[in-house]
Formats: sequence, C-alpha cells, structure tokens
Amino acid sequence: MSEENIQVEIITPTSKVYSGSVESFIAPGVEGYFGVLPRHAPYVVAMQVGEIKLKGVGDANLQRFATSGGFAEILPHKITVLAETAESAANIDVNRAENAISRAKKRIEEGRKTWDIDRAHAALARGFNRMAIAKKKL
Ligand code: ATP
Repeated sequence: MSEENIQVEIITPTSKVYSGSVESFIAPGVEGYFGVLPRHAPYVVAMQVGEIKLKGVGDANLQRFATSGGFAEILPHKITVLAETAESAANIDVNRAENAISRAKKRIEEGRKTWDIDRAHAALARGFNRMAIAKKKL
C-alpha cells in the first residue's frame, strides 16, 4: 500500500458497501464534518446523518455515500466505518426516500399521542439526506 493512500472499508450490519484505496476521506461526525488524509493520528469518532465523500486514488471524482450514523476508526493508513446504514449515491432509491419523507411528515403532523416523534424526525432527516445526495451533481 502506498504511504500516501488510505484503505477504507464501509461496513453496515447487512453488507460491505465499500472497500478501496483513497487519497482523502470526509464524513459527518457528531461534532461536524471531518476530513482525513494519510498518516492521520489514530482516533475513533461517532457519526451522524450525512454524506461520506471519498476521493479515489488518481481519480478526480468523489465517491459519495449517504449514511445515518455509526462509528469510524481512523488509523494512519486505514479507516473502518461501521455505519448504521450507507448507500452509494447511485444506489439511493429516490422514490423510497420520498415515501419515507411523506410518512415521517404525516406522523409528525399527527403528533406525539400517536407516534414516536423523535423517531419520525430521525426518519425525516434520513430521507432528506438521501434525497440531497441522490440529486447532487458530482
Ligand atoms: P424506509 O422507511 O424506506 O425503510 P428508513 O430511513 O427507515 O427508510 P433505514 O432504517 O435508514 O431506512 O435503512 C434500512 C435499510 O434500507 C438500510 O440497509 C438502508 O441502506 C436501506 N435504505 C433505506 N432507504 C433507502 C433508499 N432510499 N435507497 C436505498 N436504500 C435505502
């Protein structure tokens, strides 16, 4: 492995979503977006709903993923993301996200007596995030 690359694995409870070598990594930490370059000091960070961006080796384009939280372990040349969910931008089902948004909005309107409102807000945030990433141009 080149000293100037980072091996990245993005793993969810159901699948390995990405495995490859990158030049840089950006992800949504609970305290804000963070970026990692090769040789970074080791640490572990909790993540939230947002976008993971990978810049591939010698590749001008970013690879983009929607995620909804989890943890990332940063080592000098390896990053392991244990994500609650992660979908590459191309694999996001826009209709499904739209349906999830409508369902969550309806539950928020119907209110706390009927629905778990915190859960509905979290579902809404996941839906908006997926829509934003699916529709973003590279
Ligand atoms: P839904 O109500 O549609 O299941 P959700 O936000 O509750 O949406 P999650 O619990 O975040 O769904 O994810 C469950 C699984 O479904 C995960 O594997 C996730 O990657 C996948 N998933 C959810 N929504 C989408 C989508 N719009 N496109 C692609 N995969 C999705």
